Amino acid sequence: MTEEFTTTVYHDEDADVSLIEDETIAVLGYGSQGHAHALNLKDSGMDVVVGLREDSSSREAAEAEGLRVETPDVAAAEADRVVMLVPDTVQPAVYEAIEDGLEAGDTLQFAHGFNIHYGQIRPSEDVDVTMSAPKSPGHLVRRTYERGEGTPGLIAIYQDATGSAKEESLAYSKAIGCTRAGVIETTFQEEVETDLFGEQAVLCGGVTEMVKAGFETLVDAGYAPEMAYFECLNELKLIVDLMYEGGHMGMWNSVSDTAEYGGLTRGEEVINREGMDKLLEEVQNGEFAREWISENQAHRPAYKQYRDAEQNHQIEEVGARLRELFSWSEDAEQETQEAPADD
Ligand code: NAD
Ligand code: MG
Repeated sequence: MTEEFTTTVYHDEDADVSLIEDETIAVLGYGSQGHAHALNLKDSGMDVVVGLREDSSSREAAEAEGLRVETPDVAAAEADRVVMLVPDTVQPAVYEAIEDGLEAGDTLQFAHGFNIHYGQIRPSEDVDVTMSAPKSPGHLVRRTYERGEGTPGLIAIYQDATGSAKEESLAYSKAIGCTRAGVIETTFQEEVETDLFGEQAVLCGGVTEMVKAGFETLVDAGYAPEMAYFECLNELKLIVDLMYEGGHMGMWNSVSDTAEYGGLTRGEEVINREGMDKLLEEVQNGEFAREWISENQAHRPAYKQYRDAEQNHQIEEVGARLRELFSWSEDAEQETQEAPADD
């Protein structure tokens, strides 16, 4: 039985690349997302110009791939679609430099909605403001495209001055390969709030704090740090891989019945739902965004402190030592990837 999605999923047949084939597309930034978008667009026959600072170390790499590179202001002035793929924290400054290049009817496009949703970039009313965001890191966006596949993606329309913002966002998503996998429509608000909540509560913040707390609990109780490391960090990947492939049931079916019973009956004990509600509230009411914006304006004093503490945690030292022990497997893996079979 196939279950209905609660939201429409768009595929290749729902998108028409010809809607944007006469455009010049400026891709600002050539990092994780930027290089993948620029190269996929070029391979889909689009007219692409990459916007990079004069002294950017990425210039050479982009040009070596046959891409044209200009400074962001020149690229944006020339372009009908300007895609913001520089880090979120530098986007407001880059926007100031390119604002004059956005003419009525142009599109300003994002892969994450932070700066629009929290009012750090306020485009004029006569441009389309949209999102076309792969739900995946850039190297996968590129690699899957080259194999004739794609990564799932999102579109969102914040401002539709032309009346064709949605169709064009789907066209763009097709040109970078996302409609091959499936694209769903969301809003800037929903994308930002779920993204920030997810990375804080579950993915980046939640997982590392859970691992550290488990590690500390065992070490404080007198167990060997090496044992604690393997149990609380190293094995996490095995469990997550199983969840990724088969959901929770796929994972439960693969572990022992003892692990399953213990996990099902005890796991909830370590979860703080009120803490999660609080995080979500701070995302929704803008408190987290205000804190992060002023932290950046102050050149990140707290951020540096937190990073130092993380760096100096015992788990880092133990982990670095233990990972040496199995580095042979990574080397072997690299060799099989790099060396041609007949070499
Ligand atoms: P990144 O850090 O990998 O790359 C940013 C690039 O911007 C740099 O490589 C550089 O070429 C350029 N750059 C940096 N500072 C600049 C400046 N001052 N002026 C001009 N160019 C500058 O960034 P990323 O991870 O590709 O993120 C880009 C956007 O995509 C962000 O909005 C991010 O939220 C979003 N996004 C990222 C991912 C991901 O997996 N990385 C996934 C979905 C959405
Ligand atoms: Mg323009």
